[in-house]
Amino acid sequence: MIPTLTRLYELIDPFALCYTLAEEMGDDPAAVCDGTLARSRVYIEGYSAEGSWDETVILLEELGGYCDCEVLYNVAPQVEEAEEIADPRRDWYPDDEEEDVPDGTADSVVGA
Ligand SMILES: [Zn+2]
Repeated sequence: MIPTLTRLYELIDPFALCYTLAEEMGDDPAAVCDGTLARSRVYIEGYSAEGSWDETVILLEELGGYCDCEVLYNVAPQVEEAEEIADPRRDWYPDDEEEDVPDGTADSVVGA
């Protein structure tokens, strides 16, 4: 893993950040991106109260993530690669093809 990404993993959970951004921004991240790291910041500051945002943003920029959609376009593939090495079974985008998990929604019916 490149040192920048290694350090990022020490500060935050990059996979969780990218996962959260992917869920929030949907199929076309560039269309909903406001050109800032606002979404990333909300997530990261919720994740870590240690004031690590300043260093985190430097690392994200070094990885090509200058705004939220660029985190998905540029940082996420590097995180994905790191995660695949760590755990090849991890699902990246939950909305992709493999959603056919049978769930027992019948028990949501509550008798009065
Ligand atoms: Zn953007």
